[in-house]
Amino acid sequence: MAEGHRKEDTGSGGKRSRRDVIAGAMRIGGLVAAGGALGALARGERSEPTVWQIDPSKCIQCGKCATECVVTPSAVKCVHTYALCGYCKLCFGLLKDKRTGNTLAAENNRCPVDAIKRRFVEDPFYEMFIDESACIGCGICVNGCNRFGNGSLHLQIRHDRCVNCNQCAIAKVCPSQAFVRVPASRPYLIRTARRG
Ligand code: SF4
Ligand code: SF4
Ligand code: SF4
Repeated sequence: MAEGHRKEDTGSGGKRSRRDVIAGAMRIGGLVAAGGALGALARGERSEPTVWQIDPSKCIQCGKCATECVVTPSAVKCVHTYALCGYCKLCFGLLKDKRTGNTLAAENNRCPVDAIKRRFVEDPFYEMFIDESACIGCGICVNGCNRFGNGSLHLQIRHDRCVNCNQCAIAKVCPSQAFVRVPASRPYLIRTARRG
């Protein structure tokens, strides 16, 4: 599991309040946002090495990120911008539209590999975590969060897994041209605003 997605130890043995959770919410699953990376490329600052990344504003969650990567399971994972999350009890990234209850039983779980976990914060708020070791990058949860929620879940290439192919196999088939090259020093394009 990636560092930023571990459940947090409160250090006091007690539950953290939603305020505590949100106060720490500028963390983004252990990732460093790549603000300005696209702008730098547009200005022609191409001297440093680059890596592939997904522009979350273009991704339409087609499913190819789960099936086309040369790495198995895919180097693409779901990441979570906590600052955008509503901490919803009825999280549509986590739960199917039509479910039989508010449990993580298979019939309710949107994720096909049970990679999304949640922790109760205070009624009615829950904090969601992605188990990246299980996530296959299918984007099904991202689609649910984008359709019904704030869009805090999105897909990113994890650079501890990606082998930075000269021609990314997923980029070749991506129907929305969501793959771009970004500076290796700022390798993530983290969503920082609610979906439009
Ligand atoms: S192939 Fe493109 S559109 Fe499809 S899930 Fe991946 S980034 Fe999104
Ligand atoms: S639904 Fe797909 S993208 Fe979301 S956590 Fe599960 S495997 Fe990963
Ligand atoms: S560059 Fe290669 S390893 Fe990385 S996401 Fe694309 S296909 Fe997978």
